[in-house]
Amino acid sequence: MIRLTIPDIDADDIAAVSEVLRSGYLVQGAHVRAFEENTAAYVGTAYAVAVANCTAALQLALLALDVGPGDRVAVPAFSWLATANVVVLCGAEPVFVDIERCGYGMDPDALASVLAGPARISAIMPVHALGAMARIDAITDLGSQYDIPVIEDAACALGATLDGRPAGGWGAMGCFSFHPRKAVTTGEGGMLVTGDVGLARRLRILRNHGLDPDAATPDFVAAGFNLRLTEFQAALGVTQMAKLEPTLERRRALAKRYSELFAGSPVVTPREPAGSRHVYQTYAVLLPPDAARQRSALIAELRRQEIETTIGTYHMPLTTFFRSRGHYAPGDFPATDDIAGRALALPLHGRLSDEDQTRVASTLLASL
Ligand SMILES: *Cc1c(COP(=O)(O)O)cnc(C)c1O
Repeated sequence: MIRLTIPDIDADDIAAVSEVLRSGYLVQGAHVRAFEENTAAYVGTAYAVAVANCTAALQLALLALDVGPGDRVAVPAFSWLATANVVVLCGAEPVFVDIERCGYGMDPDALASVLAGPARISAIMPVHALGAMARIDAITDLGSQYDIPVIEDAACALGATLDGRPAGGWGAMGCFSFHPRKAVTTGEGGMLVTGDVGLARRLRILRNHGLDPDAATPDFVAAGFNLRLTEFQAALGVTQMAKLEPTLERRRALAKRYSELFAGSPVVTPREPAGSRHVYQTYAVLLPPDAARQRSALIAELRRQEIETTIGTYHMPLTTFFRSRGHYAPGDFPATDDIAGRALALPLHGRLSDEDQTRVASTLLASL
């Protein structure tokens, strides 16, 4: 089977984790601090706060801004469900915004219409979908214009940049995931980055039972969660981060080769938005419309031929939960309708050979 993804776990990763397990110190220690410091330095923010996963990071980001019942949060229609679920879990309502056809991020023009409308928006949560930068420059400009904080869901986009500035470093807070489907993994894991000392303090309080991180003796200043990352996950994060650039360059080289293999075919390859660096957390092609209508059968046929593929990501307003809450229908988000219906994610990981890629491309083209 040519797998969709295989995490890049090497001997140095395994050694680092084993060392922590032998040390007897398993939570909230030097490895978590080092992982936070490395991430903050990489993204160029003053602070980073490690948490159990990116869903927790997104939820804490909203809570740190006091988003709650009665609030509305703008999210793109095309994402993994966590992006919209966390809004509901805070007691607020997601307001879905259609996406762009290049890069699949929240469409700044559609966002501008929402912001000019009657409903007051409390936070804007763009997603750097599949590892491509959203038009975060235009989105943060709109945020400043309306004085609305921006939280970047950069779950898939560690290392992506726009105009040289990293994903996660544009908004009030940025959130990363270290799930095994992302380029850097700690099994489960997440990280918030921010330049705001007050937000960093609130996030630390919320992640650890409400414990005041700055008090000399233990004191509790809020009802917090336990959303801590373990020391062995953080140790893995440190060794993984040390290999981030070669990992991303390898992904970019594989993406380039796929795009060459599909040149001149009816399969549309992903575009890198102008001025940006795409990290291809997912390499998703767009199928021609007639093939897209048979996408499930195509995925099954490719699997029969030992090639694992899947859909790009989800049309959130058309899932049962959000459709029944918001009475959405096809046509409400035309770009998301089109992209979500046609995207097909292809195998992309460090152990994919030239031969594998050729077989993926030729089998897909022969199956259309
Ligand atoms: C993976 C992902 C998440 C959730 O990350 P977890 O670490 O699995 O909680 C959130 N948003 C997007 C866009 C993702 O791709």
